[in-house]
Amino acid sequence: MRFAGFEGNQSAKRILSSFVDRGRIPHAVLIEGPAGSGRRTLAKILAQAAVCVSSGEKPCGVCGHCRKMSSGNHPDVLMIGGEGPSSSFPVETVREIRSSAYILPNEAEYKVVILSGADETSTGAQNALLKILEEPPPHLLFILTCENRFKLLPTIQSRVVGVALGAVDADTATGAIMRILPRTGEEDARRAAEAFDGIIGQAVKGLADGTFKLAVEIAPEIAQAVAAPNELELLKLTAKLEKDKSACNAVLNLISLIFRDALALRVGYKNNISSDFDTAASLSKLLTKGQLMALVEEVERLKSYRNTYMNNTLLVTLMCSRLREAAGR
Ligand SMILES: [Zn+2]
Repeated sequence: MRFAGFEGNQSAKRILSSFVDRGRIPHAVLIEGPAGSGRRTLAKILAQAAVCVSSGEKPCGVCGHCRKMSSGNHPDVLMIGGEGPSSSFPVETVREIRSSAYILPNEAEYKVVILSGADETSTGAQNALLKILEEPPPHLLFILTCENRFKLLPTIQSRVVGVALGAVDADTATGAIMRILPRTGEEDARRAAEAFDGIIGQAVKGLADGTFKLAVEIAPEIAQAVAAPNELELLKLTAKLEKDKSACNAVLNLISLIFRDALALRVGYKNNISSDFDTAASLSKLLTKGQLMALVEEVERLKSYRNTYMNNTLLVTLMCSRLREAAGR
């Protein structure tokens, strides 16, 4: 199977290749991953591979089916929904799919239905979907995408074959970012990849919409304010993050690097300082080794909360109190 332009994520690629290359695609595939990880792009590549008629590697990109798919109007590929709560698909849509499920494809071997944001739909819509998944017609291929598979009904989870998308290694991410945004320098691209967890789509969005710029400006200030005599400065700075989950995530990643570098400097390492050197150097003089270790641990704990349902205001509040405590302030 070919994955033209789709970076990293080797394990997901291996799983999908094993299906496509043997000509046996399961009737329901779930692509799970964070926003910006390429869920819909990969869903489209798999759909294209399913309708492609090449005898070589699929999707070939040149057969009639591939070309129709590339131009977005293949009659046997239906794309429904989007990511995020506001763009999920309603139960009526699933009922319509169900009523036409047994009609044969127009041109291709498969009829493909891509359902994006499957974890954001109502229980009613998921139950309607389950009824098709229980007795799927052989020509129908469902490709579901979601951020969190555990928000799907367990009965749906057990009827899909899942692949997970995630971080791409630093070099690959940096190269991809520079290809998508050619005016971005290598250093910014590398830092953006770090700030946005190696998720290319998020880094590109962050660079384009100013989130990255904000995070890079504010992260050293926040790291300094953690060690300041009083809490006021930290509260003022973090208030800017309350309404911006993406910036908050990026700041946590960037201050994590700063605290790690400060710790490294504190114990005498001077090489491989990857973050803001001046900030790390100043913190290494202001804080003890124990405090810096506590800060590194605390940032990791705060980062783990991002994957839970905690709302961002609470996360920012915790960020202030926990980091100040870790710094012995
Ligand atoms: Zn083809």
